[in-house]
Amino acid sequence: MEELEIGGLVIRETKTGDADKIVTLLTAERGRISVSGKGVSSLRSKYAASARLFSYSTFLLRKTNRYWYIRDAFYIDSFTELGEDLEKLSLANYVAEAAYEVAREEFENPALLSLTLNTLYAVARTSLPLEQIRGAFEFRMAAQEGFAPDLSACGVCGAPLGLGNEDCTLDVMNGRLLCRKCRAAAENDPAYYENETAKIFIRVSPPVLAALRFIAAAPPKKFLSFSLGKEELSLFSVVCERYLLNHLEHGFSSLEYYKKIRG
Ligand SMILES: [Zn+2]
Repeated sequence: MEELEIGGLVIRETKTGDADKIVTLLTAERGRISVSGKGVSSLRSKYAASARLFSYSTFLLRKTNRYWYIRDAFYIDSFTELGEDLEKLSLANYVAEAAYEVAREEFENPALLSLTLNTLYAVARTSLPLEQIRGAFEFRMAAQEGFAPDLSACGVCGAPLGLGNEDCTLDVMNGRLLCRKCRAAAENDPAYYENETAKIFIRVSPPVLAALRFIAAAPPKKFLSFSLGKEELSLFSVVCERYLLNHLEHGFSSLEYYKKIRG
């Protein structure tokens, strides 16, 4: 019998009976852990608050017959403000779903837990534009998981980019930037990609490039400390979303729902 004391954020809950559910915890030390919560949906359960979606607690878990059970839980926070705003709640659902997708069982990932907690905090308790939070979360996640593009210069000829007011291009599937000349050359070169569908080019303006560079390099709690004008922000959110989703090769129903709510 194995016992474990661990900080965990509930990123998914699956009802398995009237008062029972399986909760999936995101942890720093062990990635994703599924835990059987007998009776935890009951209001009388002393673990009800800890076993709710978006709750962060210190759990004492016990493993018997391959399954983890809650032996005790010390509630810390659950971002209850999210329940007051459907738009924020739907974004938080997407954040949790994306974290679930990226996290692996028994694989430590403290950066992912920290990013998810900091993002939920920003959604629930700051007045930052939600599209800024979403894009920064997506791009930072890509960077942390090791598939950020090289943002230093044109990935083909090495020309410096982001100076003055000239746009450049993000070559999504090759994870690199292209200057204007190299983009034109790529578009005229049938051999640039063997697979035409992988040719995803997105325009990136200098302010958006500056934001991407900032997010990739910022300390964990500072990755949202930038601002963009309204038009730049909508370009930014397109860039970040397409970059992450194309690299994960995965769409998210929670993201579609969030976008529908935003109208
Ligand atoms: Zn170039």
